[in-house]
Amino acid sequence: MDQTEARAAAKVADRDRLYIDGEWMTPLDALPMPVQDPTTEEVVAHVPAAGSGDVDRAVAAARAAFAPWAGLSPSARADHLDRLLAALSSRAEQIAATVSIEVGTPIKVAQRVQTGLPLLVLRDYAARARAGFEPETIGNSLVVREPVGVVGAITPWNYPLHQVVAKVGAALAAGCTVVLKPAELTPLTAYLLFDAIHEAGLPHGVVNLVTGSGPVAGSALAAHSDVDIVSFTGSGATGAAISRLAADRIARVTLELGGKSANVILSDADLAKAVKVGVGNAFLNAGQTCTAWTRMLVHRSVYEDAVELAATASAGYVTGDPFDPATRLGPLVSERQRDRVRNYVDKGLADGARLVSGGPDAPVPARGWFVAPTVFADVDPDDTIAQEEIFGPVLSIIPFSDDDQAVEIANNSRYGLAGAVWSADEDRAMAVARRLRTGAVDINGGAFNPLAPFGGYKQSGVGRELGQHGLSEFLETKSIQR
Ligand code: NAD
Repeated sequence: MDQTEARAAAKVADRDRLYIDGEWMTPLDALPMPVQDPTTEEVVAHVPAAGSGDVDRAVAAARAAFAPWAGLSPSARADHLDRLLAALSSRAEQIAATVSIEVGTPIKVAQRVQTGLPLLVLRDYAARARAGFEPETIGNSLVVREPVGVVGAITPWNYPLHQVVAKVGAALAAGCTVVLKPAELTPLTAYLLFDAIHEAGLPHGVVNLVTGSGPVAGSALAAHSDVDIVSFTGSGATGAAISRLAADRIARVTLELGGKSANVILSDADLAKAVKVGVGNAFLNAGQTCTAWTRMLVHRSVYEDAVELAATASAGYVTGDPFDPATRLGPLVSERQRDRVRNYVDKGLADGARLVSGGPDAPVPARGWFVAPTVFADVDPDDTIAQEEIFGPVLSIIPFSDDDQAVEIANNSRYGLAGAVWSADEDRAMAVARRLRTGAVDINGGAFNPLAPFGGYKQSGVGRELGQHGLSEFLETKSIQR
Protein backbone atom coordinates (compact mmCIF):
# COMPACT_ATOMS: atom_id res chain seq x y z
CA MET A 1 0.00 0.00 0.00
CA ASP A 2 1.48 3.40 -0.95
CA GLN A 3 1.15 6.58 1.10
CA THR A 4 -1.95 7.84 -0.70
CA GLU A 5 -3.73 4.51 -0.29
CA ALA A 6 -2.70 4.27 3.37
CA ARG A 7 -4.09 7.76 4.02
CA ALA A 8 -7.30 6.90 2.15
CA ALA A 9 -7.77 3.81 4.37
CA ALA A 10 -8.81 6.16 7.15
CA LYS A 11 -11.92 7.15 5.14
CA VAL A 12 -11.97 10.40 7.12
CA ALA A 13 -15.28 12.24 6.84
CA ASP A 14 -17.41 14.73 8.75
CA ARG A 15 -19.41 13.27 11.65
CA ASP A 16 -22.45 15.25 12.75
CA ARG A 17 -23.98 12.93 15.36
CA LEU A 18 -23.35 11.93 18.95
CA TYR A 19 -23.77 8.36 20.17
CA ILE A 20 -26.39 8.40 22.92
CA ASP A 21 -28.63 5.58 24.18
CA GLY A 22 -27.51 3.17 21.47
CA GLU A 23 -28.26 5.53 18.58
CA TRP A 24 -26.49 8.09 16.42
CA MET A 25 -28.38 11.19 17.56
CA THR A 26 -28.47 14.73 16.21
CA PRO A 27 -27.00 17.04 18.87
CA LEU A 28 -29.34 19.47 20.63
CA ASP A 29 -27.15 22.54 20.44
CA ALA A 30 -23.80 21.73 18.82
CA LEU A 31 -21.68 23.75 16.42
CA PRO A 32 -19.28 21.96 14.03
CA MET A 33 -15.72 21.72 15.40
CA PRO A 34 -12.80 21.29 12.95
CA VAL A 35 -10.26 18.44 13.10
CA GLN A 36 -6.86 19.20 11.56
CA ASP A 37 -4.15 16.98 10.13
CA PRO A 38 -0.90 18.21 11.74
CA THR A 39 1.17 17.03 8.76
CA THR A 40 -0.74 18.97 6.09
CA GLU A 41 -2.23 21.63 8.42
CA GLU A 42 -5.52 21.05 6.61
CA VAL A 43 -8.97 20.67 8.15
CA VAL A 44 -9.89 17.06 7.36
CA ALA A 45 -13.29 16.79 9.06
CA HIS A 46 -15.74 18.36 11.48
CA VAL A 47 -17.42 16.86 14.53
CA PRO A 48 -20.03 18.36 16.87
CA ALA A 49 -18.95 20.59 19.75
CA ALA A 50 -21.75 19.54 22.06
CA GLY A 51 -23.10 21.52 25.01
CA SER A 52 -24.40 20.64 28.43
CA GLY A 53 -27.84 19.58 27.11
CA ASP A 54 -26.27 16.71 25.21
CA VAL A 55 -24.14 15.78 28.23
CA ASP A 56 -27.38 15.61 30.26
CA ARG A 57 -28.98 13.31 27.69
CA ALA A 58 -25.93 11.03 27.61
CA VAL A 59 -25.67 10.82 31.40
CA ALA A 60 -29.40 10.06 31.65
CA ALA A 61 -28.96 7.22 29.14
CA ALA A 62 -25.98 5.84 31.07
CA ARG A 63 -27.93 6.06 34.35
CA ALA A 64 -30.93 4.22 32.88
CA ALA A 65 -28.64 1.52 31.47
CA PHE A 66 -26.68 1.05 34.70
CA ALA A 67 -28.92 -1.31 36.70
CA PRO A 68 -29.54 -3.77 33.84
CA TRP A 69 -25.85 -3.77 32.79
CA ALA A 70 -24.62 -4.17 36.37
CA GLY A 71 -27.21 -6.92 36.81
CA LEU A 72 -25.85 -9.01 33.95
CA SER A 73 -23.52 -11.83 34.91
CA PRO A 74 -19.85 -10.94 34.32
CA SER A 75 -19.69 -13.65 31.65
CA ALA A 76 -22.62 -12.06 29.79
CA ARG A 77 -20.69 -8.78 29.88
CA ALA A 78 -17.64 -10.68 28.62
CA ASP A 79 -19.71 -11.87 25.61
CA HIS A 80 -20.43 -8.23 24.76
CA LEU A 81 -16.77 -7.27 25.19
CA ASP A 82 -15.70 -10.15 22.93
CA ARG A 83 -18.09 -8.90 20.23
CA LEU A 84 -16.73 -5.39 20.67
CA LEU A 85 -13.17 -6.71 20.37
CA ALA A 86 -14.05 -8.45 17.09
CA ALA A 87 -15.71 -5.32 15.68
CA LEU A 88 -12.77 -3.15 16.73
CA SER A 89 -10.15 -5.59 15.40
CA SER A 90 -11.82 -5.59 12.00
CA ARG A 91 -11.21 -1.82 11.87
CA ALA A 92 -7.53 -2.00 12.86
CA GLU A 93 -6.17 -0.64 9.59
CA GLN A 94 -8.65 2.25 9.55
CA ILE A 95 -7.88 3.09 13.18
CA ALA A 96 -4.11 3.20 12.59
CA ALA A 97 -4.50 5.42 9.53
CA THR A 98 -6.90 7.73 11.41
CA VAL A 99 -4.43 8.08 14.30
CA SER A 100 -1.65 8.89 11.84
CA ILE A 101 -3.86 11.60 10.34
CA GLU A 102 -5.15 13.25 13.52
CA VAL A 103 -2.13 12.74 15.84
CA GLY A 104 0.70 12.51 13.27
CA THR A 105 2.07 9.21 14.65
CA PRO A 106 4.24 7.33 12.10
CA ILE A 107 2.01 4.62 10.60
CA LYS A 108 4.03 1.65 11.90
CA VAL A 109 3.85 2.98 15.46
CA ALA A 110 0.17 3.78 14.93
CA GLN A 111 -0.40 0.12 13.97
CA ARG A 112 1.76 -1.51 16.62
CA VAL A 113 1.22 0.79 19.61
CA GLN A 114 -1.78 3.04 19.01
CA THR A 115 -3.93 0.17 17.67
CA GLY A 116 -2.28 -3.04 18.88
CA LEU A 117 -2.06 -1.99 22.52
CA PRO A 118 -5.75 -1.13 23.05
CA LEU A 119 -6.80 -4.38 21.39
CA LEU A 120 -4.64 -6.27 23.93
CA VAL A 121 -6.13 -4.26 26.78
CA LEU A 122 -9.70 -4.88 25.64
CA ARG A 123 -8.97 -8.61 25.27
CA ASP A 124 -7.63 -8.62 28.84
CA TYR A 125 -10.76 -6.93 30.22
CA ALA A 126 -13.02 -9.37 28.36
CA ALA A 127 -11.03 -12.22 29.95
CA ARG A 128 -11.23 -10.65 33.42
CA ALA A 129 -15.02 -10.30 33.10
CA ARG A 130 -15.20 -13.92 31.91
CA ALA A 131 -13.26 -15.05 35.00
CA GLY A 132 -15.83 -13.25 37.21
CA PHE A 133 -15.41 -11.57 40.58
CA GLU A 134 -15.32 -14.12 43.36
CA PRO A 135 -16.39 -12.83 46.80
CA GLU A 136 -13.86 -13.02 49.61
CA THR A 137 -14.66 -14.46 53.05
CA ILE A 138 -13.16 -12.67 56.08
CA GLY A 139 -14.38 -14.20 59.35
CA ASN A 140 -18.17 -13.87 59.35
CA SER A 141 -18.09 -11.38 56.47
CA LEU A 142 -18.67 -11.95 52.80
CA VAL A 143 -16.82 -9.21 50.89
CA VAL A 144 -18.27 -8.49 47.46
CA ARG A 145 -17.23 -6.06 44.72
CA GLU A 146 -19.93 -4.01 42.96
CA PRO A 147 -19.73 -1.48 40.12
CA VAL A 148 -19.34 2.18 41.11
CA GLY A 149 -22.04 3.43 38.72
CA VAL A 150 -21.94 5.96 35.89
CA VAL A 151 -18.45 6.87 34.66
CA GLY A 152 -17.53 10.20 33.07
CA ALA A 153 -14.42 9.45 30.99
CA ILE A 154 -12.36 12.41 29.75
CA THR A 155 -9.33 11.64 27.57
CA PRO A 156 -6.39 13.38 25.83
CA TRP A 157 -5.13 13.26 22.25
CA ASN A 158 -1.73 11.57 22.38
CA TYR A 159 -2.90 7.92 22.46
CA PRO A 160 -6.52 8.50 21.48
CA LEU A 161 -7.74 4.88 21.36
CA HIS A 162 -5.56 3.40 24.10
CA GLN A 163 -6.52 6.00 26.69
CA VAL A 164 -10.22 5.52 25.91
CA VAL A 165 -10.10 1.70 25.94
CA ALA A 166 -8.15 1.65 29.23
CA LYS A 167 -11.18 3.35 30.80
CA VAL A 168 -14.09 1.93 28.78
CA GLY A 169 -12.82 -1.68 28.84
CA ALA A 170 -12.29 -1.68 32.60
CA ALA A 171 -15.54 0.17 33.35
CA LEU A 172 -17.68 -2.15 31.22
CA ALA A 173 -16.04 -5.28 32.63
CA ALA A 174 -16.77 -3.97 36.13
CA GLY A 175 -20.44 -3.37 35.30
CA CYS A 176 -20.33 0.43 35.05
CA THR A 177 -21.83 2.49 32.24
CA VAL A 178 -19.92 5.28 30.53
CA VAL A 179 -20.14 8.71 28.94
CA LEU A 180 -16.96 9.52 27.00
CA LYS A 181 -15.72 13.03 26.17
CA PRO A 182 -12.64 12.50 23.94
CA ALA A 183 -10.01 15.17 23.21
CA GLU A 184 -11.15 17.82 20.73
CA LEU A 185 -7.96 17.35 18.64
CA THR A 186 -8.53 13.61 18.05
CA PRO A 187 -12.24 12.73 18.07
CA LEU A 188 -12.17 10.71 14.83
CA THR A 189 -10.53 7.68 16.46
CA ALA A 190 -13.24 7.73 19.14
CA TYR A 191 -15.91 7.67 16.42
CA LEU A 192 -14.38 4.45 15.06
CA LEU A 193 -14.64 2.87 18.52
CA PHE A 194 -18.33 3.84 18.63
CA ASP A 195 -18.90 2.44 15.13
CA ALA A 196 -17.58 -0.83 16.60
CA ILE A 197 -19.74 -0.45 19.73
CA HIS A 198 -22.83 0.02 17.53
CA GLU A 199 -21.92 -2.97 15.35
CA ALA A 200 -21.29 -5.13 18.43
CA GLY A 201 -24.83 -4.34 19.62
CA LEU A 202 -23.99 -3.31 23.17
CA PRO A 203 -27.18 -2.61 25.15
CA HIS A 204 -28.53 0.93 24.67
CA GLY A 205 -27.00 3.55 26.92
CA VAL A 206 -24.13 1.42 28.21
CA VAL A 207 -21.53 3.55 26.37
CA ASN A 208 -22.20 7.07 25.08
CA LEU A 209 -20.11 9.56 23.09
CA VAL A 210 -20.27 13.33 23.52
CA THR A 211 -17.63 15.26 21.58
CA GLY A 212 -16.83 18.86 22.37
CA SER A 213 -14.51 21.24 24.13
CA GLY A 214 -13.02 20.67 27.56
CA PRO A 215 -14.37 23.82 29.21
CA VAL A 216 -17.94 23.19 27.90
CA ALA A 217 -18.65 19.46 27.40
CA GLY A 218 -15.81 18.20 29.61
CA SER A 219 -16.62 20.36 32.61
CA ALA A 220 -20.37 19.67 32.24
CA LEU A 221 -19.56 15.95 32.47
CA ALA A 222 -17.16 16.30 35.40
CA ALA A 223 -19.65 18.49 37.29
CA HIS A 224 -22.70 16.34 36.54
CA SER A 225 -24.53 15.30 39.70
CA ASP A 226 -25.39 11.88 38.25
CA VAL A 227 -21.79 10.92 37.38
CA ASP A 228 -20.37 8.68 40.14
CA ILE A 229 -16.73 8.58 39.05
CA VAL A 230 -14.70 10.80 36.75
CA SER A 231 -11.84 8.98 35.08
CA PHE A 232 -9.48 11.54 33.58
CA THR A 233 -6.25 11.46 31.60
CA GLY A 234 -4.57 14.72 30.63
CA SER A 235 -2.77 17.70 32.08
CA GLY A 236 -2.30 18.45 35.76
CA ALA A 237 -4.15 21.78 35.56
CA THR A 238 -7.25 20.13 34.10
CA GLY A 239 -6.96 17.24 36.56
CA ALA A 240 -7.03 19.71 39.43
CA ALA A 241 -10.05 21.54 37.94
CA ILE A 242 -11.92 18.25 37.52
CA SER A 243 -11.09 17.20 41.09
CA ARG A 244 -12.56 20.47 42.38
CA LEU A 245 -15.77 19.93 40.37
CA ALA A 246 -16.11 16.35 41.63
CA ALA A 247 -15.30 17.29 45.23
CA ASP A 248 -18.57 19.19 45.67
CA ARG A 249 -20.53 15.93 45.45
CA ILE A 250 -17.77 13.61 46.79
CA ALA A 251 -17.61 11.83 43.44
CA ARG A 252 -14.70 9.47 42.90
CA VAL A 253 -11.88 10.68 40.66
CA THR A 254 -8.97 8.91 39.03
CA LEU A 255 -6.28 10.99 37.37
CA GLU A 256 -3.56 9.99 34.92
CA LEU A 257 -1.42 13.10 34.49
CA GLY A 258 1.98 14.13 33.20
CA GLY A 259 5.53 12.98 33.80
CA LYS A 260 9.20 13.92 33.62
CA SER A 261 10.70 10.48 33.80
CA ALA A 262 14.39 9.75 34.40
CA ASN A 263 16.40 7.15 32.51
CA VAL A 264 19.20 6.31 34.94
CA ILE A 265 22.29 4.86 33.25
CA LEU A 266 24.69 3.50 35.88
CA SER A 267 28.45 3.21 35.37
CA ASP A 268 28.36 -0.51 34.45
CA ALA A 269 25.41 -0.33 32.01
CA ASP A 270 25.38 -1.57 28.42
CA LEU A 271 25.81 2.04 27.31
CA ALA A 272 25.07 1.67 23.59
CA LYS A 273 21.79 -0.13 24.30
CA ALA A 274 20.77 2.13 27.18
CA VAL A 275 21.25 5.28 25.11
CA LYS A 276 19.64 3.90 21.94
CA VAL A 277 16.56 2.61 23.77
CA GLY A 278 16.47 5.75 25.90
CA VAL A 279 16.43 8.11 22.91
CA GLY A 280 13.76 5.96 21.25
CA ASN A 281 11.62 6.12 24.38
CA ALA A 282 12.00 9.90 24.66
CA PHE A 283 11.04 10.43 21.02
CA LEU A 284 8.17 7.91 20.79
CA ASN A 285 5.13 9.64 19.27
CA ALA A 286 7.28 12.78 18.80
CA GLY A 287 7.83 12.90 22.56
CA GLN A 288 4.09 13.19 23.20
CA THR A 289 4.02 10.29 25.65
CA CYS A 290 3.34 10.85 29.33
CA THR A 291 5.85 8.16 30.38
CA ALA A 292 8.63 9.47 28.06
CA TRP A 293 12.12 9.25 29.62
CA THR A 294 12.85 12.91 28.96
CA ARG A 295 15.77 13.13 31.40
CA MET A 296 18.76 10.90 30.68
CA LEU A 297 20.93 10.64 33.81
CA VAL A 298 24.39 9.28 33.05
CA HIS A 299 27.34 8.37 35.28
CA ARG A 300 30.25 10.77 34.79
CA SER A 301 32.68 7.96 33.79
CA VAL A 302 30.68 7.28 30.59
CA TYR A 303 28.99 10.67 30.23
CA GLU A 304 30.72 12.08 27.12
CA ASP A 305 30.34 8.74 25.30
CA ALA A 306 26.62 8.78 26.13
CA VAL A 307 26.24 12.35 24.85
CA GLU A 308 27.86 11.38 21.55
CA LEU A 309 25.75 8.23 21.19
CA ALA A 310 22.57 10.19 21.95
CA ALA A 311 23.42 12.89 19.39
CA THR A 312 24.03 10.22 16.74
CA ALA A 313 20.84 8.32 17.61
CA SER A 314 18.83 11.54 17.56
CA ALA A 315 20.07 12.41 14.07
CA GLY A 316 18.56 9.11 12.87
CA TYR A 317 15.04 10.29 13.75
CA VAL A 318 14.01 11.43 10.29
CA THR A 319 11.08 13.86 10.37
CA GLY A 320 8.39 13.63 7.72
CA ASP A 321 4.97 12.42 6.66
CA PRO A 322 3.75 9.69 9.05
CA PHE A 323 2.67 7.63 6.04
CA ASP A 324 6.21 7.62 4.59
CA PRO A 325 7.89 4.39 5.77
CA ALA A 326 11.20 6.30 6.21
CA THR A 327 9.66 8.66 8.79
CA ARG A 328 10.59 8.08 12.42
CA LEU A 329 9.30 11.38 13.82
CA GLY A 330 5.97 12.89 12.82
CA PRO A 331 4.73 16.41 13.54
CA LEU A 332 3.44 17.60 16.90
CA VAL A 333 -0.31 17.39 17.25
CA SER A 334 -1.09 21.09 16.88
CA GLU A 335 0.41 24.47 16.13
CA ARG A 336 0.00 25.38 19.79
CA GLN A 337 1.98 22.32 20.94
CA ARG A 338 4.65 23.04 18.31
CA ASP A 339 5.02 26.61 19.60
CA ARG A 340 5.16 25.42 23.23
CA VAL A 341 7.94 22.96 22.43
CA ARG A 342 9.88 25.56 20.43
CA ASN A 343 9.71 27.88 23.45
CA TYR A 344 11.20 25.16 25.66
CA VAL A 345 14.06 24.66 23.18
CA ASP A 346 14.73 28.41 23.28
CA LYS A 347 14.57 28.34 27.08
CA GLY A 348 17.11 25.49 27.20
CA LEU A 349 19.52 27.53 25.09
CA ALA A 350 18.92 30.66 27.15
CA ASP A 351 19.61 28.72 30.37
CA GLY A 352 22.99 27.61 28.99
CA ALA A 353 22.37 23.94 28.20
CA ARG A 354 24.73 22.50 25.54
CA LEU A 355 22.85 21.75 22.30
CA VAL A 356 24.26 18.54 20.79
CA SER A 357 21.57 17.67 18.23
CA GLY A 358 18.61 19.39 16.57
CA GLY A 359 17.62 22.78 17.95
CA PRO A 360 15.79 25.75 16.47
CA ASP A 361 17.80 25.91 13.24
CA ALA A 362 17.76 22.21 12.34
CA PRO A 363 15.80 21.54 9.13
CA VAL A 364 12.24 20.20 9.29
CA PRO A 365 9.55 19.92 6.58
CA ALA A 366 8.23 23.37 5.62
CA ARG A 367 4.61 22.31 5.99
CA GLY A 368 3.33 20.64 9.17
CA TRP A 369 3.92 21.30 12.85
CA PHE A 370 7.37 19.74 13.14
CA VAL A 371 10.10 20.19 15.71
CA ALA A 372 13.52 18.67 15.01
CA PRO A 373 14.62 15.93 17.42
CA THR A 374 16.67 17.83 19.97
CA VAL A 375 19.23 16.75 22.57
CA PHE A 376 20.68 19.00 25.26
CA ALA A 377 23.66 17.96 27.42
CA ASP A 378 24.91 19.52 30.69
CA VAL A 379 21.36 20.36 31.76
CA ASP A 380 21.06 21.57 35.34
CA PRO A 381 18.54 19.35 37.20
CA ASP A 382 16.69 22.47 38.37
CA ASP A 383 16.43 24.10 34.93
CA THR A 384 13.01 24.57 33.35
CA ILE A 385 13.67 21.96 30.63
CA ALA A 386 14.58 19.39 33.31
CA GLN A 387 11.55 20.19 35.46
CA GLU A 388 8.60 20.87 33.15
CA GLU A 389 6.87 18.38 30.91
CA ILE A 390 7.74 19.51 27.37
CA PHE A 391 5.66 16.93 25.45
CA GLY A 392 7.90 17.09 22.39
CA PRO A 393 11.10 15.48 21.02
CA VAL A 394 13.48 17.15 23.47
CA LEU A 395 15.90 15.15 25.62
CA SER A 396 17.96 16.55 28.53
CA ILE A 397 21.17 14.73 29.53
CA ILE A 398 22.40 15.23 33.09
CA PRO A 399 25.58 13.80 34.69
CA PHE A 400 25.78 12.18 38.15
CA SER A 401 28.61 10.90 40.35
CA ASP A 402 27.16 7.91 42.22
CA ASP A 403 23.96 5.91 42.65
CA ASP A 404 22.76 8.07 45.55
CA GLN A 405 23.09 11.24 43.52
CA ALA A 406 21.32 9.58 40.56
CA VAL A 407 18.35 8.74 42.82
CA GLU A 408 18.34 12.26 44.25
CA ILE A 409 18.26 13.88 40.80
CA ALA A 410 15.68 11.42 39.47
CA ASN A 411 13.38 12.16 42.43
CA ASN A 412 13.91 15.92 42.12
CA SER A 413 10.63 16.29 40.24
CA ARG A 414 7.03 17.06 41.08
CA TYR A 415 6.12 14.14 38.82
CA GLY A 416 6.46 10.42 39.48
CA LEU A 417 5.09 8.44 36.56
CA ALA A 418 7.81 6.20 35.11
CA GLY A 419 11.55 5.72 34.75
CA ALA A 420 14.34 3.32 33.88
CA VAL A 421 17.56 1.94 35.32
CA TRP A 422 20.43 0.30 33.41
CA SER A 423 23.18 -1.75 35.03
CA ALA A 424 25.04 -5.02 34.39
CA ASP A 425 24.20 -5.89 38.02
CA GLU A 426 20.45 -6.51 38.28
CA ASP A 427 20.47 -6.33 42.09
CA ARG A 428 22.06 -2.90 41.91
CA ALA A 429 19.51 -1.79 39.29
CA MET A 430 16.68 -3.17 41.44
CA ALA A 431 17.96 -1.28 44.49
CA VAL A 432 17.88 1.98 42.52
CA ALA A 433 14.48 1.11 40.98
CA ARG A 434 13.01 0.64 44.48
CA ARG A 435 14.23 4.08 45.52
CA LEU A 436 12.61 5.92 42.57
CA ARG A 437 9.33 7.60 43.60
CA THR A 438 7.44 6.62 40.45
CA GLY A 439 4.59 4.29 39.47
CA ALA A 440 6.72 2.26 37.04
CA VAL A 441 10.39 1.52 36.40
CA ASP A 442 11.93 -0.52 33.56
CA ILE A 443 15.21 -2.33 34.25
CA ASN A 444 17.59 -2.85 31.30
CA GLY A 445 14.83 -2.17 28.78
CA GLY A 446 12.13 -4.37 30.35
CA ALA A 447 9.17 -4.21 27.97
CA PHE A 448 6.00 -2.22 28.69
CA ASN A 449 3.43 -4.60 30.13
CA PRO A 450 -0.11 -3.52 29.24
CA LEU A 451 -1.59 -5.76 31.95
CA ALA A 452 0.50 -4.30 34.80
CA PRO A 453 -0.83 -1.38 36.89
CA PHE A 454 -0.13 2.01 35.31
CA GLY A 455 -0.24 5.35 37.12
CA GLY A 456 1.63 7.97 38.99
CA TYR A 457 3.14 8.96 42.30
CA LYS A 458 3.09 12.63 43.34
CA GLN A 459 1.60 15.02 40.75
CA SER A 460 1.50 12.31 38.07
CA GLY A 461 -1.88 11.16 39.25
CA VAL A 462 -4.27 9.35 41.53
CA GLY A 463 -5.29 5.72 41.02
CA ARG A 464 -4.18 3.11 38.51
CA GLU A 465 -5.25 1.94 35.08
CA LEU A 466 -4.83 -1.39 33.24
CA GLY A 467 -5.11 -4.96 34.48
CA GLN A 468 -6.76 -5.88 37.75
CA HIS A 469 -5.73 -2.63 39.44
CA GLY A 470 -7.43 -0.62 36.69
CA LEU A 471 -10.59 -2.69 37.05
CA SER A 472 -10.65 -2.17 40.82
CA GLU A 473 -10.99 1.61 40.38
CA PHE A 474 -14.49 0.98 38.99
CA LEU A 475 -15.57 -1.34 41.82
CA GLU A 476 -16.98 -0.57 45.25
CA THR A 477 -16.38 -2.98 48.14
CA LYS A 478 -19.21 -4.23 50.35
CA SER A 479 -18.95 -6.35 53.53
CA ILE A 480 -21.95 -8.54 54.37
CA GLN A 481 -21.88 -9.94 57.93
CA ARG A 482 -23.60 -13.21 58.71
P1 NAD B 1 -5.83 18.54 28.70
O1 NAD B 1 -5.87 18.42 30.16
O2 NAD B 1 -5.87 19.89 28.09
O3 NAD B 1 -7.06 17.78 28.03
C1 NAD B 1 -7.41 16.45 28.35
C2 NAD B 1 -8.91 16.29 28.23
O4 NAD B 1 -9.53 17.13 29.20
C3 NAD B 1 -9.48 16.72 26.87
O5 NAD B 1 -10.54 15.84 26.53
C4 NAD B 1 -10.01 18.10 27.16
O6 NAD B 1 -11.08 18.48 26.31
C5 NAD B 1 -10.51 17.95 28.57
N1 NAD B 1 -10.60 19.21 29.31
C6 NAD B 1 -9.86 20.35 29.15
N2 NAD B 1 -10.28 21.29 30.02
C7 NAD B 1 -11.29 20.76 30.75
C8 NAD B 1 -12.10 21.23 31.82
N3 NAD B 1 -11.97 22.46 32.29
N4 NAD B 1 -13.02 20.39 32.34
C9 NAD B 1 -13.14 19.14 31.87
N5 NAD B 1 -12.43 18.63 30.85
C10 NAD B 1 -11.50 19.43 30.31
O7 NAD B 1 -4.57 17.71 28.24
P2 NAD B 1 -4.07 17.43 26.77
O8 NAD B 1 -3.39 18.67 26.29
O9 NAD B 1 -5.17 16.85 25.94
O10 NAD B 1 -3.03 16.23 27.02
C11 NAD B 1 -1.68 16.45 27.29
C12 NAD B 1 -1.39 16.20 28.75
O11 NAD B 1 -1.93 14.97 29.23
C13 NAD B 1 0.06 16.10 29.04
O12 NAD B 1 0.39 16.86 30.18
C14 NAD B 1 0.30 14.62 29.32
O13 NAD B 1 1.36 14.28 30.12
C15 NAD B 1 -0.96 14.20 29.93
N6 NAD B 1 -1.16 12.78 29.71
C16 NAD B 1 -1.08 11.91 30.76
C17 NAD B 1 -1.24 10.56 30.55
C18 NAD B 1 -1.19 9.55 31.65
O14 NAD B 1 -1.67 8.45 31.47
N7 NAD B 1 -0.62 9.84 32.80
C19 NAD B 1 -1.51 10.10 29.28
C20 NAD B 1 -1.58 11.01 28.25
C21 NAD B 1 -1.42 12.35 28.48
